[in-house]
Amino acid sequence: MDIGCLETVVANSAYVAARGSMDANAAQTMRDRKMRAKLKLPNISQCEHLKDQIELGFQSLCIKQPIGKRLFQQFLDDTEEFRPIVNLWKDAEDYNMAEENLRVQKAQRIINTYMESASKNFCSFLEEKAIMRVKEDAKNGHHDLFKESEQLLIAHLGRQALERYKESLFFLRFLQFKWLEAQTVTEEWFMDFRVLGKGGFGEVFASQMKATGKMYANKRLNKKRLKKRNGYEGAIVEKRILAKVHSRFIVLLAYAFQTKTDLCLVMTIMNGGDLRFHIYDVDLQNPGFSEERAAFYTAQIICGLEHLHQNRIIYRDLKPENVLLDDAGHVRLSDMGLAVELQEGQSKTKGYAGTPGFMAPELLKGDEYDWCVDYFTLGVTLYEMIAAKGPFRTRGEKVENKEVTRRILHDPATYSEKFSVCLKALCEGLLMKDPLKRLGFKNDNCSELKQQPWFKKMNWGRLEGGLLDPPFVPDARTVYAKDIDDVGAFSTIKGVVIDEADKEFYAEFASGNMPIPWQEEMIETGVFGELNTWGAKGSIPKDLCR
Ligand code: ADP
Ligand code: MG
Ligand code: MG
Repeated sequence: MDIGCLETVVANSAYVAARGSMDANAAQTMRDRKMRAKLKLPNISQCEHLKDQIELGFQSLCIKQPIGKRLFQQFLDDTEEFRPIVNLWKDAEDYNMAEENLRVQKAQRIINTYMESASKNFCSFLEEKAIMRVKEDAKNGHHDLFKESEQLLIAHLGRQALERYKESLFFLRFLQFKWLEAQTVTEEWFMDFRVLGKGGFGEVFASQMKATGKMYANKRLNKKRLKKRNGYEGAIVEKRILAKVHSRFIVLLAYAFQTKTDLCLVMTIMNGGDLRFHIYDVDLQNPGFSEERAAFYTAQIICGLEHLHQNRIIYRDLKPENVLLDDAGHVRLSDMGLAVELQEGQSKTKGYAGTPGFMAPELLKGDEYDWCVDYFTLGVTLYEMIAAKGPFRTRGEKVENKEVTRRILHDPATYSEKFSVCLKALCEGLLMKDPLKRLGFKNDNCSELKQQPWFKKMNWGRLEGGLLDPPFVPDARTVYAKDIDDVGAFSTIKGVVIDEADKEFYAEFASGNMPIPWQEEMIETGVFGELNTWGAKGSIPKDLCR
């Protein structure tokens, strides 16, 4: 065995062992005790001033932020008059997550407990009409059966409970967590494992947050390489967009920080490799996916695109290589480096961006365009999942970009017998050369696309909740990344000097912890539970005494 190969074997085994530590209990054993000890809540006198700095709107404070929601629910549970309400809230969430065959029974229990005026837990704020509708529909087990009740419940709590919550110890505890969240992270909080892939400006490593044990992907962007190759704009756009989106179908940004040499984006780790690898490199004799498998990935990609477009973001670089699998086999979109955000009031943009063979005709022609371009790239991606080749090339063909562009503009795609009738119709709808005729995002959603006959069997509600079993589960001991040697090194950058303006840019980039992912990490790895302790009944914990 040569040294390079040995290096890969050693790196792989450390990485596979760390990867096994994804669930909370195992993550605990992987933690670095010294770093974990640094995660301590401050005394309330140190952080009380934060209440004048943080956002105090009900949605942000009590619903969107995971720790905020936990503490708000604990407050409700601790206050007698709110207890039935928080129980209804939790039961309705439990219903949404439940398997379909359990739902009817759960629905009936919720009705009996909270929706009958004789019950001691009756929730009188629910409007009669809403209760009637739930009772009528209870037998069909729909995933949005309690949607209206939940909306009424949230509105009621916003009116009745928010102000009292803000006077409570639970809110002070929240301020302590906000203080901890705002502490700057630096590279000493992370341990890099093996390299997962190579990007344009640096490598992406598997990386562990030492204090919690959680694994992430750390995308390093080399400062000098960025400067030399005008990468600042792209880097800040990628960061801003990743920080803005919250979807289980898009990689999520948890931390942005800098080291002496690099800017670092710490994101959801996707251990299962990219779709390109799975299309071509798993079964060399028989590349491509079954329609069923392709439908699952396509549906998840559509959910990711829908979220981007609802946030006015055009992705521009959808292709199999940028769709990554996680441990369970769910996929997320990654690599937002070419994405662009339409400003309020702006409806189109211009500019050549994307990957040859994928770019939409209107973009290639230099016209103005909007999100429609992403449904063309979706068509190319779906076609490739089935045919194991792009619609505008023959397999193995060496062809100039100019010729590919000509074909995209003028030639129709052809479909082998691998495509069923419904699938062919869908591909044709996505590959429409005229963006106005193309399937896609209309009236702020993708409903029309989701209702295409090819998706007849898809349960979109369960898919969107992350509740469908993926058609393929990556092997937990396989490393779906190139051997270390094959990743390839970067050349050294000479003649670049970093000045004050650069440093200002780095500071803007390195904004630290992203609140929602940070809070999720604390909960998921058990750290929140360890820190959120209370004194004996009736006594105020020492750290909350001013
Ligand atoms: P660039 O924008 O420079 O192309 P990418 O974001 O595509 O960089 O990352 C480069 C490579 O690193 C990817 O092709 C993939 O192999 C790997 N990679 C990127 N993000 C992740 C992630 N979140 N999890 C696992 N691997 C990743
Ligand atoms: Mg890339
Ligand atoms: Mg990129």
